[in-house]
Amino acid sequence: MLRAFRFALLTIVVLVVVWYVATLPGEVQIVIGETEIKATTPVAVFCLVALDIFLLVIIGVIRFFWQTPGRVAARRAARRRDAGVHAAVRALAALAAGDLKSASEHARIAQRHTPDEPLSLYVAGEAARQAGDHRAADSHFSTLATHKEVGFLGWHGLLSHHANDALDGSSAVTAADLRAAVSSYPTSAWLRNQRMRIAASQGDYAQAARLADNRAERAALAIMASRDAQRANLAVDWARHAVRANPESAVTWLQLALAHQRAQWPQAWHRHRARIALRNGWKLAPHPDIASAFLKDIDAPLDRARAAQSLAALNPNSPESAKLLAETAHAAQLEGESRRHAAAAQAAGTEWICSSCEAEVRDWRYDCPRCGAIGALVWSRTEDINATETAAAAHVHSQQTPKILAPP
Ligand SMILES: [Zn+2]
Repeated sequence: MLRAFRFALLTIVVLVVVWYVATLPGEVQIVIGETEIKATTPVAVFCLVALDIFLLVIIGVIRFFWQTPGRVAARRAARRRDAGVHAAVRALAALAAGDLKSASEHARIAQRHTPDEPLSLYVAGEAARQAGDHRAADSHFSTLATHKEVGFLGWHGLLSHHANDALDGSSAVTAADLRAAVSSYPTSAWLRNQRMRIAASQGDYAQAARLADNRAERAALAIMASRDAQRANLAVDWARHAVRANPESAVTWLQLALAHQRAQWPQAWHRHRARIALRNGWKLAPHPDIASAFLKDIDAPLDRARAAQSLAALNPNSPESAKLLAETAHAAQLEGESRRHAAAAQAAGTEWICSSCEAEVRDWRYDCPRCGAIGALVWSRTEDINATETAAAAHVHSQQTPKILAPP
């Protein structure tokens, strides 16, 4: 409706203008040399308008041919960009599907068409990483890391690469790299976690404990920092830190006791604190190692049985207490007493079990040797350790080389 109205209005205006021009009086005379052109005013005006239109058309045609090469190049670049993005997205899908062959193929196509596009660099780096081509992965991710807006993607690739793959020491992540990564995305929780894992894998447990978000992780790393501490007082500080983070862990209390035993002055006070730590540990998280440390200096079997009774009294309902009483009574040849606790002792813990992947570990360690979870080992009883071959196969002992970090 509006269009029809507008068209009618335009028609009226044009007709009025044409009528006005057609009724103009007088004539126009142009003399060029000996040639003389004469026309009435309306004809002259219409000729002038026609000449204008003709010139505009000529200019348009010239401009069209002038710009053709640039337009063809731009169209070709757009086609290449489309092809590159399409290939990169297909590579991403193939990576997600675990189809490394197809991912590498499409990543190569993406690289050919759009070598500097962040997505091309990312899929090329990831495909190279998964194919074990460390050098190519490093190169693609490093280039991506210099990108102004999405440089974090490059750091994500680089850090995952170094954290998850056993690289032969030649290309470690430096402190400067980590600083650059942090500045590319200061609030990234993922990055904080990776930094914690990298610090732990490099043996810098104090730094790793500072970066740990989760209580169990912080406690496990603080125990390691306490074990590694050069000065005895620092070892006590870190052990206290571990206890505060996770008082339900036997290892934190045990480490606190050991750190106090190691400290020299005032020795009596430290010995006293060590005993308190062992008693508190037994109350909150009984474990045979706490009992061993508690009975360490007692030799006579009867005295050991008596000391065990005082420790067990702090946590009388625990199967660990029953087990301790049964064992020390047996050693002191108090068979009746030993038998009395034998049934309850059956439920005592037998191994460290990863709460994340259920791997069984004989000696406590800060990380799970199977899934890499930090601070996830819990002292508990395995149903039947030697029951099946499968259980034996799943059994992971601490002397095996740990996989330091979990997958991203
Ligand atoms: Zn695990």
